[in-house]
Amino acid sequence: MQRNATTQYPILLVHGLFGFESIGNIALFHGIKQALRQAGARVFIPYLSATHSNELRGEQLLAQIDRVLAGTGAAKINVIGHSQGALAARYAAAMQPKKVASVTSVSGPNHGSELADYLRKALIPDRLPEHVAATVATLFAEFLSLLSGHPQLPQNAIAALNALTTESVGTFNDKYPQGLPNTWGGTGKELVNGVRYFSWSGILKGSLVDEGPNLFDPLHSLCRAFSRYFTTEAEENDGLVGRYSSHLGTVIRSDYPLDHMDTINQTAGLVRKGVDPVDLYVQHAERLRNLGL
Ligand code: CA
Repeated sequence: MQRNATTQYPILLVHGLFGFESIGNIALFHGIKQALRQAGARVFIPYLSATHSNELRGEQLLAQIDRVLAGTGAAKINVIGHSQGALAARYAAAMQPKKVASVTSVSGPNHGSELADYLRKALIPDRLPEHVAATVATLFAEFLSLLSGHPQLPQNAIAALNALTTESVGTFNDKYPQGLPNTWGGTGKELVNGVRYFSWSGILKGSLVDEGPNLFDPLHSLCRAFSRYFTTEAEENDGLVGRYSSHLGTVIRSDYPLDHMDTINQTAGLVRKGVDPVDLYVQHAERLRNLGL
C-alpha cells in the first residue's frame, strides 16, 4: 500500500540511547528514516553531543531545529524523541513552542527510569550489597559495550544516569511540565502552547522463547535482565523505562510488545514477530499529516 506521510513540517528524529552518545556502528533509528522518506516525509537526525543534562541537550536540539528551519524554509518542526531524546524534545518545545509543531516521545523516561535509579546506586560503592552491585554493573557495562563497542564504563556513566533518575527527572518536570499527565498512568493534554504532545512505548511480555527473532538479539536479553531491577513497574517496563513513566500527551499505546531498543528497530531489525516498529513511525507521520502538522 502506498503510504502518505507528506507532513507539512519536517520531522526530526532525536536519539537518546539512555544518555550515551558513543554508539559505534549502530545505525540510529534502524530503517526508520528511510521508511519515512519513502512515504514522503522530510526527515533529519540531529546529533546531540555528550552532555549530561537534559537542558543542555535541549539547547543543542534548539540550535539544530534552527538549522533545519533555515535550511528547509519550514515554519515549525515535528520532533520525535526516543528515550532521553524525548526529554530534549520536551525542553525545546517548552522553551520555543512557536518553532515546534509536535513532540512525540517514544519509550521516553518522562517520569524517570527505575533502572537509572538502581544503576546509580550500584555504581556508587557501598550503596548495595557488593555481589548485587557487581552483577548490575557488569550488565550495564555489557549493554554499553554492545551500543558503543567500548567494553569499559565511560567516564560519564554516573553523570549521565543522574539525568535520568526518578528524582532528577522530577525536578526537570517541575520546570517543564508541558504534556505530562496529571495522574500516574493517565494521559496528558494533547495541545499545550500550540504544541501537540504524543507518546508510545512498549513492555516486555511473556518469556524469551516467545520473542522469535529477538532471541538472537543480545540487547533484548539485557533488557530482560534489567527488567528484574524494577519495583514500581515490575511487570510493565521495557527493560529501561516503565510503561506509565513513558506517558506524555496523547498516549497512542504504551504496551506494544517491544523492548526499549525494539522501538528504534534495534538491533538491526531483530524484533518480535507480528509488530513492526518502523511502521509505527510511518503511521504516526500519517497521523501528523492528517492533523495538518
Ligand atoms: Ca530487539
